[in-house]
Amino acid sequence: MRVPVHSASRSLVYTAVAILVANAGSASAGTQTVVTLGFDDATAAQFQVGAMVASRGLNATFFVNSGRVGTSGHLTWDQIATLQAQGHEIAGHTVNHVKLTTVSPDEQRRQICDDRAALLSRNFPAVSFAYPFAAVDASIESIVRACGYSSARGHGGHIPNPDSTCSGQCTWAEKIPPVDAFNTRSPSSILSTWTLADLQAMVTGAEQNGGGWIQLTFHKICNACDTYSTSPELLAAFLDWLPPRAAGGTVVRTVAAVIQGGAPPVVIPPPPPPPPPPPPISAGNLLKNPSLESDANGDGVPDCWQRTGYGSNSYTWTRTTDAHSGGFAQRVQITAISSGDRKLVPLKDLASCAPAATPGKRYVATAWYKSTTPVRFAGYTRSTSGSWSWWAQSSEFPAVSTWTQVRWTTPAVPAGVNGISVGLSIRQLGSMTVDDQELLDPSASAGTAVAAGGNSAGTGASVQTASALAEIVSREPFLGEEDGENEDDEAAFAEATAFAEATTPAAGTGCTSGGADPVSLALMALALASRARARRRIRE
Ligand SMILES: [Zn+2]
Repeated sequence: MRVPVHSASRSLVYTAVAILVANAGSASAGTQTVVTLGFDDATAAQFQVGAMVASRGLNATFFVNSGRVGTSGHLTWDQIATLQAQGHEIAGHTVNHVKLTTVSPDEQRRQICDDRAALLSRNFPAVSFAYPFAAVDASIESIVRACGYSSARGHGGHIPNPDSTCSGQCTWAEKIPPVDAFNTRSPSSILSTWTLADLQAMVTGAEQNGGGWIQLTFHKICNACDTYSTSPELLAAFLDWLPPRAAGGTVVRTVAAVIQGGAPPVVIPPPPPPPPPPPPISAGNLLKNPSLESDANGDGVPDCWQRTGYGSNSYTWTRTTDAHSGGFAQRVQITAISSGDRKLVPLKDLASCAPAATPGKRYVATAWYKSTTPVRFAGYTRSTSGSWSWWAQSSEFPAVSTWTQVRWTTPAVPAGVNGISVGLSIRQLGSMTVDDQELLDPSASAGTAVAAGGNSAGTGASVQTASALAEIVSREPFLGEEDGENEDDEAAFAEATAFAEATTPAAGTGCTSGGADPVSLALMALALASRARARRRIRE
């Protein structure tokens, strides 16, 4: 068994934080400590976790995205049923793992309520929820409650972890019952760099400071395959360490057991379905925000679009003013790559952003781009149950130094599909800037697709360019992506970094305020350096 050596610098951070928080004097000894083992995103390797946890007489909570179940790299419904039969809790995590603060209220309700309805319909009595990326606000909390959940997990940055001090409303553990059941406080997602001692320290930190609830969030179970992975050996060692602590009052419980105090879960039936999606645009450009101008929350990602990709590569995204029309375009640069790609596609949601599509139809995608490396269109389909899957790609278009429009006619939309998402990708070292995209239904556009596409900046010359390139249409098989699209690394990364943003300084709870005193500043510097190291290690 290989268990990573505890990093000296992170140990120092944690120990020093412990001293600071302990000195603040909020401890009240003798209270029980409850640990929840949470596993997010239903990734395939989590199936082995079920037996590992159950064989030690413990239960875990699995937060499932119903729209990913059965897709490449994820658990199947049969496997999730096995997990439940082993005594584990099956909980909700939205249909498509969208960042809820970036989508419309209707889409929030679809993502939360439809996910829970999908779980209930398969006899998983989902009562607990976790926010993807820990992104939550008061109105989203109320939607989670209205969808019938009894609790929801946030991160919040309130509980110190091996890579970060806390700030604002700091505490060693969530209270039981929690202060806000619809935004429960927990340490941020577990990093691949965290050691057995790091995991233990979060539990003993609570034990030594009045007890309470420590919800741990694991993602992939593998050997350093991701920023947020945990090795099976490390998990096993931690699971071996937990049961003997029951003698001292530390126990492992599912979220539902903590929230409902051990009583049989009260399962609220699903609410009526959210409002139907708006009628799809049937002619002209089917895309929302096609010129990438709108960015309501100012996060650099245009509304209704998604920066995505898979594989092992380093990259940076920029909202650039080097635009084909309007004020903004999107630029991605790959600075190191051993596999995978990076791309900008319409947000893969349930209705608000991704265009509706009709089986049997072929669609025409166009985009303006310039690049230092070849580009190609990549496309996804959404099933009637809300699952997004890899679909098809175009052949390569060459690197061009001036704005050029390309177009691609997709294959016919398969049966059982009601939405598609198509955008440009790169898969080699270099950069791509993209702007002014279209998705057209030629049967509705009467053969004048590009000219009628609403692209006001399109000139006669550019349409000719597009016509010439229209011959470069490909339905060649996708190149070597055996395990399917995988955005979990990005998802998890944002999930854990979101905690710092979500921190809201409030009335103190007997914890250091993280102000300008030299010790706090030194701790913060150590923590930031440690986190930077962790990021570099994974991205190399
Ligand atoms: Zn997640």
